[in-house]
Amino acid sequence: MSSIDSLPPLREVIATHGLSARKSLGQNFLLDLNLTAKIARQAGDLPGMDVLEVGPGPGGLTRGLLAEGARRVLAVEKDARCLPALAEIAAAYPERLEVVEGDALEVDALARLSPPIAICANLPYNVGTELLVRWLTPDTWPPVWQTLTLMFQREVAERIVARPGSKAYGRLAVLAQWRCDVRIAMHLPPEAFTPPPKVSSAVVHLRALPEPRFEADPKVLERVVAAAFNQRRKMLRASLKGLAPDIETHLEAVGISPTERAERVSVEGFCALARRLG
Ligand code: SAM
Repeated sequence: MSSIDSLPPLREVIATHGLSARKSLGQNFLLDLNLTAKIARQAGDLPGMDVLEVGPGPGGLTRGLLAEGARRVLAVEKDARCLPALAEIAAAYPERLEVVEGDALEVDALARLSPPIAICANLPYNVGTELLVRWLTPDTWPPVWQTLTLMFQREVAERIVARPGSKAYGRLAVLAQWRCDVRIAMHLPPEAFTPPPKVSSAVVHLRALPEPRFEADPKVLERVVAAAFNQRRKMLRASLKGLAPDIETHLEAVGISPTERAERVSVEGFCALARRLG
């Protein structure tokens, strides 16, 4: 029996079901259930929430979410080898865990859940950023989810919370901070995982704001930010010249020096420019 539920410890589950980790699927498992319960607690008021988990693997975080009282968990897993282990968890928590076998980039999982919704995952590294960008750019705001509690490589986590003027500040920071409160909730060393990855990891927590922090058309803002950071070492008058012939005038009109570089412009500054160009 484990420390948080009546199921076997994860090492035993992995041995029983032959779940040797596959690099191609980004499999670095969390085996400490006290740690997974701690990550689950970051996600919000779980007893009142449905949770989407991407990549449950042998189910460490899934068990954390359920033990912490999540109303319902929908877990999307690409590796069919994990399904029998996950079925045992579903049997221990009747009516509370549904597992979908598939690629999280293709399954429309959020449509199957009822608000309030939290998304909580130890993401496979190869699809993590793509999923985050999708969750941050729905057709309408506020999104159907309230919070994202996501494990990333530390370097990606730092890009999400980076402030203007830092090297990590870029498109991901602007996209995330424009419409969410963001913070790093936990740091994890490689040894927290089996097998240990080469780099440290961090859990990022994002809470959707009811409205964007500053007014801007999402499509225009996305174009401005993509162009600005595509050539981040260049002055804005050069990196943004493809957006408008008289870009210098527009930059000056919103109080941004045309010789400034993208990494020094605040989210508010990018939104002002997007409004002007929009
Ligand atoms: N949640 C488990 C844990 O914390 O121990 C496993 C995390 S492991 C970093 C990533 C998991 O995502 C693996 O179980 C892997 O099979 C799964 N995975 C990889 N690519 C996926 C995809 N495109 N869609 C759904 N699951 C995926």
